[in-house]
Parts: sequence; structure tokens; C-alpha cells
Amino acid sequence: MIWFTECTITCPACGARRRVEMPGSLWRLDCPACGAAMVTPAGGCCVFCAFGDHPCPDVQASSSCSCGAEGG
Ligand SMILES: [Zn+2]
Ligand SMILES: [Zn+2]
Repeated sequence: MIWFTECTITCPACGARRRVEMPGSLWRLDCPACGAAMVTPAGGCCVFCAFGDHPCPDVQASSSCSCGAEGG
């Protein structure tokens, strides 16, 4: 079950928040505002899980919880 295909990602370098589409889990994404590379931290899933406000579609699809997407 995939609830979100977009998320608001916050750049750790410049603090810009941008709405971006999530094609899946990405290891690296360049900030659309300042061009800095956002790289998934060690042990992290992907840039969306690390810097976005929603988990990536891969994580959403693997979740069996059907109680909604609250909290977190
Ligand atoms: Zn930036
Ligand atoms: Zn992820």
C-alpha cells in the first residue's frame, strides 16, 4: 500500500524545503535549491526516509500496517 508518491524534502545544507516526487528509494539526490548532494546516511534507507517528511514508496509498500500514516 502506497500512500504518498511525493514528499517535502528538507536540504540539510541550506534548509530549503521542496516538494519532490519519489520514484522509489534514492541513495542520493541533489538539492534543487543549492545543488548540494543529499546522501543517505549510513544505515539509512534512502534520502526520502532521511530528509523527507514521508517514507519512500518502497518502505510504504513493505509496511503491513493499515492503521494510517499518522505519527512517526
Ligand atoms: Zn540545499
Ligand atoms: Zn526509504
